[in-house]
Amino acid sequence: MAACGAQAPSSEQAWLEAAQTFIQESLCPTDKELNVQFTQSVIDCVKTVWLSQGKYQGFTLPLSYSFVSVQNLRTHQRLPCCSHLSWSSSAYQTWAQKARPNGVPLPRERLLLVGTLTDLSGDLEQGSRNGSLYVKDNTGMLGCELIDLDLSWLGHLFLFPSWSYLPPARWNSSGEGHLELWEAPVPVFPLTVSPGPLTPLPVLYPEIASRLLRHRSKFRVEQQNLAGKLIQLSALVKSKKKAYFILSLGELSPTISQAISHVSIIVQIPAQLVWHRALCPGKAYVLTQLRVSRIRGHHYCVWMTSPSSHLMLLEPECVQELELEGPFLEADSKSLPTSSNFQDKKEPKGLMRDSRLLHYTGTVTGVLNEPAGLYELDGQLGLCLAYQQFHDLRRVMRPGVCLELQDVHLLQSVGGGTTRPVLASCLRGAILLRGFSCQKPGTQSSLQTHGASLYEQLVWERQLSLPLYLWAVKALEELACKLCPHLLRHHQFLQHSSPRNPSLGLQLLAPTLDALAPPSRSIRNAHKEILEEPHHCPLQKYAQLQTPYSFPTLATLAEEGRHRAWASFDPKVLLPLPEAAYLPCCQLNHRLAWSWICLPPAAFHPPQALVGVLVASSHKGCLQLRDRSGSLSCLLLAKHSQPLTDPQLIGCLVRTEKFQLVVERDVRSNFPSWKELGMTGFIQKQQARVYVQFFLADALILPVPRSFHHSSAPPQTESTCLGQSRLFLLSHKEALMKRNFCTSLGTTSEVPKPTLSFHVSGCWLGGTQKKERIGWGPPEPLTDENKDQKVLLIFLGSSVRWFEFLHPGEIYRLVAPGPATPKLFEVEGSSCTSQRPLELAGCVSCLTVQDEWTLELESAQDLPDMLGIHKALSGSLLTDLLGANVTDSLVSFSAEILSRTVWNTEVRRCVKLTVAIGTADSEFLPRLDIYIEDPHLPPPLGLLPGARVHFNQLEKRISRSHNVYCCFRSSTYVQVLSFPPETTVSAPLPHIYLAELQQGTWGPFQATASCHVISVVSLQLLWVCAHCTSVCPQGRCIRQGPACSIQTSISQASIRLLVEDGTAEAMVTCRNYHVAAALGLCPNEWTSLLEFIRKPGRVVLKFTGPGAQLESSAKIEEPLILYLHTLCTSPSVLRPVVLSFELERKPSNITPLEPPRLQRFQCGELPLLTRVNPRLRLACLCIQESSEHPNSQGAFASSC
Ligand SMILES: [Zn+2]
Ligand SMILES: [Zn+2]
Repeated sequence: MAACGAQAPSSEQAWLEAAQTFIQESLCPTDKELNVQFTQSVIDCVKTVWLSQGKYQGFTLPLSYSFVSVQNLRTHQRLPCCSHLSWSSSAYQTWAQKARPNGVPLPRERLLLVGTLTDLSGDLEQGSRNGSLYVKDNTGMLGCELIDLDLSWLGHLFLFPSWSYLPPARWNSSGEGHLELWEAPVPVFPLTVSPGPLTPLPVLYPEIASRLLRHRSKFRVEQQNLAGKLIQLSALVKSKKKAYFILSLGELSPTISQAISHVSIIVQIPAQLVWHRALCPGKAYVLTQLRVSRIRGHHYCVWMTSPSSHLMLLEPECVQELELEGPFLEADSKSLPTSSNFQDKKEPKGLMRDSRLLHYTGTVTGVLNEPAGLYELDGQLGLCLAYQQFHDLRRVMRPGVCLELQDVHLLQSVGGGTTRPVLASCLRGAILLRGFSCQKPGTQSSLQTHGASLYEQLVWERQLSLPLYLWAVKALEELACKLCPHLLRHHQFLQHSSPRNPSLGLQLLAPTLDALAPPSRSIRNAHKEILEEPHHCPLQKYAQLQTPYSFPTLATLAEEGRHRAWASFDPKVLLPLPEAAYLPCCQLNHRLAWSWICLPPAAFHPPQALVGVLVASSHKGCLQLRDRSGSLSCLLLAKHSQPLTDPQLIGCLVRTEKFQLVVERDVRSNFPSWKELGMTGFIQKQQARVYVQFFLADALILPVPRSFHHSSAPPQTESTCLGQSRLFLLSHKEALMKRNFCTSLGTTSEVPKPTLSFHVSGCWLGGTQKKERIGWGPPEPLTDENKDQKVLLIFLGSSVRWFEFLHPGEIYRLVAPGPATPKLFEVEGSSCTSQRPLELAGCVSCLTVQDEWTLELESAQDLPDMLGIHKALSGSLLTDLLGANVTDSLVSFSAEILSRTVWNTEVRRCVKLTVAIGTADSEFLPRLDIYIEDPHLPPPLGLLPGARVHFNQLEKRISRSHNVYCCFRSSTYVQVLSFPPETTVSAPLPHIYLAELQQGTWGPFQATASCHVISVVSLQLLWVCAHCTSVCPQGRCIRQGPACSIQTSISQASIRLLVEDGTAEAMVTCRNYHVAAALGLCPNEWTSLLEFIRKPGRVVLKFTGPGAQLESSAKIEEPLILYLHTLCTSPSVLRPVVLSFELERKPSNITPLEPPRLQRFQCGELPLLTRVNPRLRLACLCIQESSEHPNSQGAFASSC
């Protein structure tokens, strides 16, 4: 302290000298000479404030403080700070505590700020007034905010004892920071108090003033002074033409009749706009020199300030009510301007609700989305400022700010994903700043910086209702999180939308917004919104919004799909009883090995819309949608039956609400039998493949400006203006699979690694073309006109990305960027290393497509010679396909996939597709099995039951049992034509006569017939080991060495019936649970019967000949056999039934049909010889009792 004291005089001297220099430079009026008096006044003022805090540490001068000029703050103060001259350290600490725990307090600097408070931006001549406040010194001026402005302060020099400075935020394009003035400023020179009027001021009170307005036509109304209590204050409305606000004065102490009397006053003189900051609702004021004026476009008149008007606080002793005479003094009921042309829109009643208008004072606790004007108030309310112009307020808004909201709308249950009640201000109510925040503003993400102008557009141009606005803001946030900044820049995505330069964000929302809020032409009328009663504004009426869509990230969508796929995976549902009960374990597990689910957008709540950038994978060759979270494989069709052909789609932004999220489940399990299906422990391995499929015709496709997406394409350089190209017509495409290639010439010693690749064959159309200034130059003449132009193009490495775009029948342009190289597209020399010389033999040229080469789709119309190109998918004739002719082993056809089964064991991996061949319009579709094995596994996307697919160049084979089937091979090309229908309506089987089956070549595969059971031909009931399917007498497997460890037995049954329907006879085989139906047994009887079989393990009955003599596996006298014999010959089995069946012989079976044979019949005395068709063989799908049969309840119905 002693040292301090010793130094004090010199340091005080230094401080004073510095202060004087500063004051003379920055504060002294420039037009005057050195002013000692002025300097001393400023220093005295600082001293007074400094000493007022009490603890001044022994110094009479604030030595630790230094003066700061406006210029210095603007240029050197990069961080937010505050300065409190009048505060002690402990006072600052207490204050700073308020910022915690969620925020950081503004750091304290020791700066002295002195300046003139003004509402004039710029100097007197050029400056303009718009209601903003500034602190000015000789070096410049800074915008400021102040609570409780006293109008007498304007134009005077002040010391600001407590303030904070905030440098411009990232969004703030003006680049200007602002001051927040915490305490009332201390005048450097005493303010002159203007003396009150000598005589009391004549005033009108609201009731008379509003009557005067209505009778204006009868009297000439002079300029008047109005007095009353401020009951309503509108927002400060700023349009391009002018700025104004409207206030309403009410009676000081209203009686009942005057309760609703108030009078509105428009303030639009620029110099008076600053009043908006001084007015305080609830206080009484006098406004002088008001005149009556009509508002343009309205039928009513209002009071309006004149340039000479003044605003002052009402002091009753200084005013006197003006005595007026006239008929208008009589009270009338009609008192207020009421809305004339306000019409209720024809909204369904009950859905629309009214918001409540109220006053609210609260503290901002969170910033939800600053550019969109969304904040959190008091931790539980939403606050939306977007329906007002809140530019000035925005810079102040951060957690800790206290606001008084006048006439704010309260909206509850707005829906659309917003759960809390929302307060929203329209133009009618002012938002008054009641306290600054001591928190340092948080760092802003790009999302919090951009988009203000787009959000404004949603409110002011699109006129969205609040629920829809809140949803749109949320959706834009979701989309920005998905796409920015890696795929797009934030400012690009959220830019202001104009017809020439539309915002991508708005384009993505447009389909939904157009449907829910069609663009309207009406513009918000601020005058009406503020003045009219009843009040009408966009916030007045609202309907709860059902969230139209959400835009999940692709990773979330895939994860949700995966989650649902496994949550819904239930072996008991996939294999329902009774079918499962008869399956041996290997079949059981095969049936579970593959399954799938398809989730349409409506399966999610809220429905999901798919958004992503389309990319072609150069690793997998498939198409993917990509966003920041990752990528999702997709299967796209341009439209029904039309593949994707245009590579220009790569890099486009795709949005669709119509898609199928497909999850294929691959399961490896070892369930011993159906009894264990409920136990999860038998699932050894499970994995899911997730992808989406949709038609591009259903999607919105938005090209993304080149510079904004990061594609794998080489950067655009000058060499792109060089290049050469050649057209080719594609005739065949082969499978995308791993093939053996020697990767390059120099590394022949390396063992060739299988490389993902594919080939296409086609022919060149003309010679190479060089790039010219406008498009492509003329084709170079061919060296040898007669030379065959056939070509085989090999795509490997990253050029596999073109796979999904190449389709037979289309013309493509192969483009090689860079300087022209002669013979680039000619025969490739020794680097052509295809392992398939046979195919090569047919082609003159074989070319490997380089990674940097690109493809363009060329339309056939542009090429006059090519109009006749046959684009239809080639197909084999049905007779070739299902005939015995095997000379042409490659077949092509379109078919609908009926089922897909998978063998997924250690030993064998194989996918079997059962397809129905032919077009949808033919009635009976022959079926065929197609097998896919390694290396074609996993199968291409989209091979799902219900899908229509074109298979090109499958290998046709014939099985040992003479059935035709097909296999994938390397030349096979698969094109999905349509996706599975979302709802499958199972059409009833056709009802036919059995004779119809003997006529057609390919009759119905499945049908129903009403027929009569003539006799039972054979019956077999047995119990087998679920593991090895050996017979199990006494329930034990009899297999020897190795014996089965798991002793689970399952029952099996089969019966052969002879049926006829008056047109033909047929032999029907029923298996397993259909046997119970054939025997007419109810479930209990059937179970008991099977239990009787358990002991012998197997019972076989054969009824030979028309007399039904019995052959049996056991002794005929046994009660069980007797019972079965009796049952099978009784009318409860030999009865009319409705039989659903399929042909036992597959349509793909190529064994020649038996010819009709001669048979001898005895008709009474006469022997007859007749030609008989071979007997039909049918497999039972279902037996139902015929409605004609009296005993349709089963043989022993009464006992069940
Ligand atoms: Zn309103
Ligand atoms: Zn066994």
